[in-house]
Amino acid sequence: MGRTYHVRTFGCQMNLHDSERVRGVLDDCGCIEVNGFDEADIAVFMTCCVRENADNKLYGQVTSLISSPNPPSGKRIVAVGGCIAQRDGDAIRKHMPNVQVVFGTDAVSSLPDLLEASIQADRRSLLVDIQTSDSHFSTDLPTKRAQRFHAWVPIMTGCNNFCTYCIVPHVRGREKSRMSEAIVRECEQLVSEGTREITLLGQNVNSYGRDLYGEPRFAELLHQVSQTGIERLRFTSSNPKDLNDEVIDAMSSLPCVMPHLHLAVQSGSSRVLKAMNRHYTRESYLELARKLQSRIPGLALTTDIIVGFPGEEERDFLDTLTLVSEVGFSAAYTFIYSKRPGTPAAELVDTTPREVIQHRFECLASLVARLSYDANQMDLHKTASVLVEGVSKRSKDVLVGHSEKNQTVHFALPQGRQIDEYVGKIVDVHVEQARTWYLRGKLVGEPR
Ligand code: SF4
Repeated sequence: MGRTYHVRTFGCQMNLHDSERVRGVLDDCGCIEVNGFDEADIAVFMTCCVRENADNKLYGQVTSLISSPNPPSGKRIVAVGGCIAQRDGDAIRKHMPNVQVVFGTDAVSSLPDLLEASIQADRRSLLVDIQTSDSHFSTDLPTKRAQRFHAWVPIMTGCNNFCTYCIVPHVRGREKSRMSEAIVRECEQLVSEGTREITLLGQNVNSYGRDLYGEPRFAELLHQVSQTGIERLRFTSSNPKDLNDEVIDAMSSLPCVMPHLHLAVQSGSSRVLKAMNRHYTRESYLELARKLQSRIPGLALTTDIIVGFPGEEERDFLDTLTLVSEVGFSAAYTFIYSKRPGTPAAELVDTTPREVIQHRFECLASLVARLSYDANQMDLHKTASVLVEGVSKRSKDVLVGHSEKNQTVHFALPQGRQIDEYVGKIVDVHVEQARTWYLRGKLVGEPR
């Protein structure tokens, strides 16, 4: 096509990876990526509908392109993909009248044809592809990865859990696993190209393989991927109700699986967890956390928590605070409940005043910050193994990467050395400062 494009992504790692596939597909048909929308003939927005503010941000950014100058080549095509595209289809024009192409979560491969058809149709009509596939999950599309040393590898999509607040199963559909052979082949290829860390991706990775007859389950898949020689292996997202002993065994026995697990708890109250349809209780989550911590020494557990779910009372919130303290999370993403139209929770009436919810949120945020500080203090004066990702936003002389426990680690670029000698390499850093959200230290030895 020879046109220029720019992709902006909202939302989770799955969306970031879908954007890598969009960029791969567009590069493959001769388009050229540019750094911003001003230069782009094709503006692609990869959208997320998990939270309300992501919707609003998207509407603002897409419609603002109406008044921005056209790219040097003439007119611009605006394409919207991802979850909002899947959810809204052609209704998208109600909020964003300048959109010409809508492609759903299973329609990345159709994007070049949709764009070409839009150009032929003189860009006036709206072209929509939101068909979903019921067969197994296949992603044999070209992928243009953001980093060479780290890769996301999707293993499944969709979710069967129907948590009452969540729009994902309604938009991404039922669980669909990808064939293990294709996953392992992709990981082998990545390792041969120099990838040091892989994150296996899915809405609920622990239920991997349940929909495929004769395919391995998630624990076995971890074993198979570890055989590729990958040095660091992570996975996300995990639902506590599906995390079984076999996965814990794999985590504790495979040296490449990093000692970090993000295990969303959402609430510490069994009553609220039931209303959320999470299928575990406060007690069973605590038992699972204790088992993980005893079987995997040094494990960093992180989580997601929703504050102000409809009907949450003070005693429920106190249960959340005590659970958070008892587990001792290393970090947590905390959110105020956001109503998603089309979900069962959106029908619930809540009378809790906004200021009460805000106060609870602030209490939780300060507890999480204190625990994160405490967790980082445990690593003071120790040596962290760090995969270097680039330079710090604040200083070109400071390099930044992530430890095995997924902590952000900063260290000074040694005098006379170049940034490129370190990016994508693994280094040892002696930790000299442990702050709430990061570690800072001194480089030990050479990168490897
Ligand atoms: S497990 Fe629950 S929160 Fe996670 S994607 Fe499925 S329905 Fe949504």
